[in-house]
Amino acid sequence: MTTPNTNPQTQQWQAMSRDHHLAPFSDYQQLSDTGPRIITNADGVYLWDSEGNKILDGMAGLWCVAIGYGRDELADAASKQMKQLPFYNTFFMTAHPPVLELAKTIAEIAPEGMNHVFFTGSGSEGNDTMLRMVRHYWALKGQPNKKVIISRINGYHGSTVAGASLGGMQGMHEQGDLPIPGIVHIPQPYWFGEGGDMSPEQFGIWAAEQLEKKILEVGEANVAAFIAEPIQGAGGVIIPPDSYWPKIREILAKYDILFVADEVICGFGRTGEWFGSDYYGNKPDLMTIAKGLTSGYIPMGGLIVSDKIFEVLKPGGDFNHGFTYSGHPVAAAVALENIRILRDEKIIERVREETAPYLQKRLRELADHPLVGEVRGLGMLGAIELVKNKSSRTRYTDKGAGMICRAHCFNNGLIMRAVGDTMIIAPPLVISKSEIDELVTKARLCLDLTLQDLQA
Ligand SMILES: *Cc1c(COP(=O)(O)O)cnc(C)c1O
Repeated sequence: MTTPNTNPQTQQWQAMSRDHHLAPFSDYQQLSDTGPRIITNADGVYLWDSEGNKILDGMAGLWCVAIGYGRDELADAASKQMKQLPFYNTFFMTAHPPVLELAKTIAEIAPEGMNHVFFTGSGSEGNDTMLRMVRHYWALKGQPNKKVIISRINGYHGSTVAGASLGGMQGMHEQGDLPIPGIVHIPQPYWFGEGGDMSPEQFGIWAAEQLEKKILEVGEANVAAFIAEPIQGAGGVIIPPDSYWPKIREILAKYDILFVADEVICGFGRTGEWFGSDYYGNKPDLMTIAKGLTSGYIPMGGLIVSDKIFEVLKPGGDFNHGFTYSGHPVAAAVALENIRILRDEKIIERVREETAPYLQKRLRELADHPLVGEVRGLGMLGAIELVKNKSSRTRYTDKGAGMICRAHCFNNGLIMRAVGDTMIIAPPLVISKSEIDELVTKARLCLDLTLQDLQA
């Protein structure tokens, strides 16, 4: 389905890919045979490939480019910092201004009582840090047996050994003998896929009750923490039924375990609030961040830690953990500029009040399409379920409807991601109403083309 190349350089790059590049989450045979699409430029919400095709990026890179592409201010912030102090570590009783200013700024926007930040190079490293920190916390409190982390099937928490173990992705667990011990999983609140005959509200309660069941099974004395994304992103933009988070909060209040929100996708405005936890009124003890922190212009992640945790860590001696690039000055300078833009341009307010309601209204118009079983979304997140039968929610088995649709999107100038037969979007937060119109028009065209293929 790919169109032949016209730019001779495309072929050269594809040969380099075939001969040398091991891409993440890729089938190397398929990548060798087909060659990757080469993305060369970007501006606003648009990408250009090496063939000159203009593509509306419905996924904000990989959920990260919140402020859109092409903001010179971030490049200037990086350049200025590189000239002044390109690197210094934050080990051994040293620091530098950008990391300190960033920690203070994050504490200002984070929920109340979350005033301390440990920086990492990525979201995965943030979750690794979390695992070590919460176990250290309980050991300092004289309860070293509280080690087990409860997470969710089909959650995504990164790709390091701890991240992939915390995540509940079967395909990842199958490689490399994961999950590591001390991590257990409960069902996800995915009503469309797994709710059966229950109403969404009943199913939300049922899914939340699985947490209590697991705490009792493992024993409260052995459970360190529960980790969850406010909305599962990579799992397929899974928005829990309204009954879910209140019930989870009720259960967490009953037991002495920590609550970790993985805010790598929801953080920095995607729901129309600074954090997904703000949107739902959740009160986590720790929050993992990355992606939107720098709008993806440079790698950076971190772990925001509550005063409650910090007060235990503080007198506890060395925390023997850290990365060479924890709080990297250039990344910190870029993150600061990114947050400044989010604040000064009131981007999150505009998402909440104007563009997200518009996106959600326009997306839901696709629900009348014969291939669509459900459209759901919140903030700048959306999902479209592809089905054969709308009322029974049954799929086109073995046809790869999602992959077919993804290819049509690519070829028609739109990036939507496929998770199985769920099409998902997470556009840059700065997407305008007319760009939303373009996104929805292209999505409908691609649904039509996909249905034609499936019926052929
Ligand atoms: C992307 C992601 C991660 C991992 O972040 P990396 O920077 O890829 O390590 C962790 N959690 C969630 C929810 C994510 O979406």
